[in-house]
Amino acid sequence: MTERLIGAVEAGGTKFVLAVARESGEVIAETRIATRTPDKCLPEMAAFFRHAAQAHGPIAAFGVASFGPIDIDPASADYGRFTTTPKPGWAGARFHDVLGEFGAPIVVDTDVNGAALGEWAMGAGQGCHTLAYTTVGTGIGTGVVQDGHSLAGFSHFESGHIPVARDPVHDPFPGRCPFHGDCLEGLASGPAIEERWGSSLSKLASPAGPLEIIADYIAQLAASLVLLHMPDRLVFGGGVMKTPGLIDAVRRKAEARLGGYVQAPQLDPGLQRYVMLPGLGDEAGITGAILLGKRGLGGDH
Ligand code: ZN
Repeated sequence: MTERLIGAVEAGGTKFVLAVARESGEVIAETRIATRTPDKCLPEMAAFFRHAAQAHGPIAAFGVASFGPIDIDPASADYGRFTTTPKPGWAGARFHDVLGEFGAPIVVDTDVNGAALGEWAMGAGQGCHTLAYTTVGTGIGTGVVQDGHSLAGFSHFESGHIPVARDPVHDPFPGRCPFHGDCLEGLASGPAIEERWGSSLSKLASPAGPLEIIADYIAQLAASLVLLHMPDRLVFGGGVMKTPGLIDAVRRKAEARLGGYVQAPQLDPGLQRYVMLPGLGDEAGITGAILLGKRGLGGDH
């Protein structure tokens, strides 16, 4: 029997990564398109898959890991539809409207849940029962994967908007979240760093002070994730985490924040094996999208 084909979409704020893969995960076609309004972007996405289907055969299932907010409840009539996103034109757009022509199942999750799934299966979260994957970039979000499935409540989690403690003497920046001001994302996202210091962390002339401030906010999330979910590991990815030395500062501060309260073999001294950078780098998202599509094929994936 020939392997069935999976169409995978990693829909990000600046670009879409599109791939066609075999069930084994082998990618046989891949492209990137710029994220614009959905009337430009979505037909281009459909054209790629149409062309790939002509060249390689029919696509049996789609996996979509997308920016949000987006409806990820398979039982909802609006499954796969963007909800309140401030991104112009995207509110109300739905992946099914353009991928429906292929007549294949479509599995939709958030971009961060997709990346979490990718890291759990093939990256730094391999062997974990429960993995928490956080991206710190343009936005901040966490996906918690347990045995290959992302956890959710009535909607996906929004860890970027948790309140964090800010010392106004050390950090007078009031935050930039339009809803909360100095929530985690309002303080520690890439745009918050740029607005505060005029540059990314890695390009600052004297990064030591700012790095400590940002590490402290991320460490507050790390400690909260431990207390809420007791994951076997925490992975931190996204553009901000590429700053040299940041992951070490997060380890140090997260351990201090936990204060020795949680004693478990998972939490090694220094958290060198507990708080990790992604194993798949920037490939985590599309890897997760392929795995979501694989689930759409049915059977035990
Ligand atoms: Zn917020």
